[in-house]
Amino acid sequence: MANIDEYRLDLAKQAYGLWGINPELVSAAEKVEYELQDSFARIEANKAYNQLKVLHAMQEAKYAETDFAASTGYGYNDSGREKLEAIYAAAFGAEAALVRLSISSGTQAIKTALYACLRPGDEMLAAFSKPYDTLDSIIGLDDSDKKDLGSLRDLGVSYAQAELTADGLPDIPAILGKINERTKLVHLQRSRGYMRRKAFTIAELQPVIAAIKARKPEVIVFVDNCYGEFTETQEPLEVGADLIAGSLIKNPGGGLAPCGGYVAGRKDLVEKAHAHLTAPGLGAEVGPTLGYNRNLVQGFYFAPHVVAECLKGMEFAALWFDQHGVKSQPQAKGIRSDIVQLLEFNQAEELIKFCQAIQAASPIDSHFKPVPWAMPGYDSEVIMACGAFVQGSSLELSADGPIKAPYTAYMQGGLVYENVKLAVLLATNDLLHNN
Ligand SMILES: *Cc1c(COP(=O)(O)O)cnc(C)c1O
Repeated sequence: MANIDEYRLDLAKQAYGLWGINPELVSAAEKVEYELQDSFARIEANKAYNQLKVLHAMQEAKYAETDFAASTGYGYNDSGREKLEAIYAAAFGAEAALVRLSISSGTQAIKTALYACLRPGDEMLAAFSKPYDTLDSIIGLDDSDKKDLGSLRDLGVSYAQAELTADGLPDIPAILGKINERTKLVHLQRSRGYMRRKAFTIAELQPVIAAIKARKPEVIVFVDNCYGEFTETQEPLEVGADLIAGSLIKNPGGGLAPCGGYVAGRKDLVEKAHAHLTAPGLGAEVGPTLGYNRNLVQGFYFAPHVVAECLKGMEFAALWFDQHGVKSQPQAKGIRSDIVQLLEFNQAEELIKFCQAIQAASPIDSHFKPVPWAMPGYDSEVIMACGAFVQGSSLELSADGPIKAPYTAYMQGGLVYENVKLAVLLATNDLLHNN
C-alpha cells in the first residue's frame, strides 16, 4: 500500500481531533515517531526477549487453570501462589521469590527485605546517596524514631551513606571507603526516585556490585528495583545483586495486579523475608490469595508488553518536549533503566497545565481537574495527576510535581502508548494554543 503513511496520518488526525488536537501537531508527532524508529525497535526487541522469558518461566512452573482457585484463611497449599513465586524467581534470575498481596506498596516490600537482612549492631550503607524519601522513617532519618516505632535505628542498626560523583554517577571509591566491619547490607537504588540523577542501567550497576563484593564478599547487595523491571533484558540479580524488591502496582503487575509487592534473590534471604512478613515458623506457608492469582499471573505475563508501551511513551515525550523548548531528562534515544521522565517547565502555570492535561487524557477520572495542594512531607504545594484503574498505580500514566522552581514534573507509566501520546499532545495544545 503506497499510501499507508497518508492513511495512518489521516486516521490519527481524525482520532486526536476528538480532543480538538491541532492537525499540525499530529503531523509533527508523526515526524517525531519517525525519528524514534531505532529507539522503538530497540524497545520492541527487549520486549520480545522479556516476553518470551516470562512465558518460558510460566511453562516451566506448569501453571494450570486450577491454580487460579481462590484460597482463604491461612491460605495453606495455594499452588497458584507458590507457582507465581517460582515464575518471578525464574524471570528475575533469583533462587527464590516472595510475591504477596499483603504487601501494599514498594516501601513495604523494601522494608520487608531490609528487616530480613539487618540485625542489631549491623550497618546499612546507602551507595547512591539518600534512598527514596519513604525510607526515611524506616531507616530512622527523620524524627519518627523518637516515637519508638521500631525503625532500623531504634533496633540498633546504624546507617551510612556514600554520595554520588559531581556528575551524578556512582562513586565506587567513596562507596568502598564507607564499608567497614559492621557493614551488613549495601543499598542500591536503580531508579532516580526524586533525585536529579539518571536511572542507573544494569551495565552501570554491575561494576559497583563487583567492587563491593571484591571488598567484602559476605556483604548483602540489595537493589531497590522499583520502576526498573523489564526495562532492560537483565535484572540486578543477574549481575551479582543478592536481593531485589519492588511493587506490583508498578512494572511487574502489568496493570492487572490490584496490589502487592515482591522480594527476590538468594534463597536464605527470601526465607528470612517470608519470616519477617508473616512470622518466623510460618514463613511462606501462609498467605491467602482470595481469588487474585489470575490477576497476578496474567499481570506478570503482560508486564514486558506494558513496560514497552511506557518506554515508547517516555521516549516520545522526551523528544517531543525537547523540540518544544521543555528540558527533559533523560534525553530520548538512550538506554532507559526505569519508566520515569522528568520535564522542566519555565513557570508554575505550565507545570499545572501539563499535569491537568495528563489527567484529562486518562481513562478514569478524566473529568476531574487536579489543582496544587499542600501535602504532608512537602515544603511547597504539590500537583498530582493519576486517572488510574488501580489507586496510585504509577505503571499507569501519572505525573506529579512540587510547585517550586525548577518547575519539574515527574511523569511515568502508561498502559497504552497512544494514551501517553494523547497526553503529550493535549498538554502541548493547551500550552501553545490556549494560553
Ligand atoms: C515507588 C518507589 C518506591 C516506593 O514505592 P511506594 O509504592 O510508593 O511505596 C521506592 N523506591 C523507588 C525507586 C520507587 O520508585
